[in-house]
Amino acid sequence: MLRQLARSRALQQRAEKFLPGGVDSPVRAFRAVGGDPPFVVRGEGAYLEDADGNRYLDYFGSWGPMILGHAFPAAVEAVREAAAHSASFGASTPAEADLAELVIEAFPSIEKLRFVSSGTEATMSAIRLARGFTGRKYVIKFEGCYHGHADGLLVKAGSGVATFGIPGSAGVPEEIAHFTLALPFNDLSAVEAAFAAHPGEIACIIVEPVIGNAGCIPPAAGYLQALREITSRDGALLIFDEVMTGFRIAFGGAQQLYGIRPDMTTLGKIIGGGLPCGAFGGRADIMNQLAPLGPVYQAGTLSGNPLAMAAGIATVGHLRENQKQIYPQLEERSAAVAEGIAAEAAKAGVSIVTNRIGSMFTWFFTQAPVTDFTTAAASDTQRFAAFHRGMLDRGIWLPPSQFEAAFLSTAHTAGHVQETIRAAQEVFGVIA
Ligand code: PLP
Repeated sequence: MLRQLARSRALQQRAEKFLPGGVDSPVRAFRAVGGDPPFVVRGEGAYLEDADGNRYLDYFGSWGPMILGHAFPAAVEAVREAAAHSASFGASTPAEADLAELVIEAFPSIEKLRFVSSGTEATMSAIRLARGFTGRKYVIKFEGCYHGHADGLLVKAGSGVATFGIPGSAGVPEEIAHFTLALPFNDLSAVEAAFAAHPGEIACIIVEPVIGNAGCIPPAAGYLQALREITSRDGALLIFDEVMTGFRIAFGGAQQLYGIRPDMTTLGKIIGGGLPCGAFGGRADIMNQLAPLGPVYQAGTLSGNPLAMAAGIATVGHLRENQKQIYPQLEERSAAVAEGIAAEAAKAGVSIVTNRIGSMFTWFFTQAPVTDFTTAAASDTQRFAAFHRGMLDRGIWLPPSQFEAAFLSTAHTAGHVQETIRAAQEVFGVIA
């Protein structure tokens, strides 16, 4: 039954000679689930193909960007055309305002935005701007939320930091971490207490409105609204990190779904259609504090890169045109696969908790509801790893960590969903 991964294994050995762990991002090394990470050579629609010729149904979608599936023809064509006119100019291009206009139309809280090249840059820049705008130093983040790898945000972060059990990271000076107040998610009393302890000192709250980086954890009813009220009352800014949820759980992201207007929003992943791209934006009075208009400095050689703009316009444009059909379909198929697998687990007597918002979901191998990082961390990661390996062996590639969300794309069909559920039935039969 085991898939042949000889070529991938050889490629991993070669990569390890040149790249730490053989990777450019830690979770790709499969350390949390064991086994050889397949080396991908191409993708098409819902499928990935590895160097040994194995095909997989992809449920991680490059960690979120590939909502339209791989090699979406309009995006491929747009990038090809842009590349023919040069990969980069370092000067303004019409496409930047075109994509900005599309994003602003989708996110009414964003009056102005700036493009960067990653989600990390987006959150890092948003924090600097929040501090520059308010003249305050402290930042509140929540345990299990991952906002990229900038120093001040690697405090009790999720994603790879959670996967490897590292509370923060070596190399982050205490003096920097000191200004980050990491609080439990979904716990308003902790937020109230932090504001009471630091009146007039908190620049912003940054939050993944639906956590994706500790696995999928939705906000409790009224939680985001309360964060809005507390920040407004104190004069602190509310930043929604929608790098993952933006254009994913609704066209207008979590803020559309939950009806909240944050002061600033960070975006990434889908807005670049798979090319390196991020953005931060929000109220015009805040954004106008950025250089060249204001005193907060931020810049980028490749910011607003023409290839990223082309892929982003093709992707967001397609979502915009077809949103009425796309989001309900993603909802229906994601519910079918999430609940179908939950039902198979129940039949096999395997305890799992299924969290899902739209096409973002996680099966936690635990019993109690998962509402924050502590309850997520109670999961049986060994059992998750066995599930992951069993699914991969059957051609279903889930994110290789319990603390990451799975995603569906528009290329996933009802047939793919059935195939996935059948595979899970077999795997639960083995690991139960
Ligand atoms: N914010 C969130 C919510 C994310 O999920 C991520 C990446 O997974 C980031 C920020 C960082 O984005 P990037 O990996 O593009 O730097």
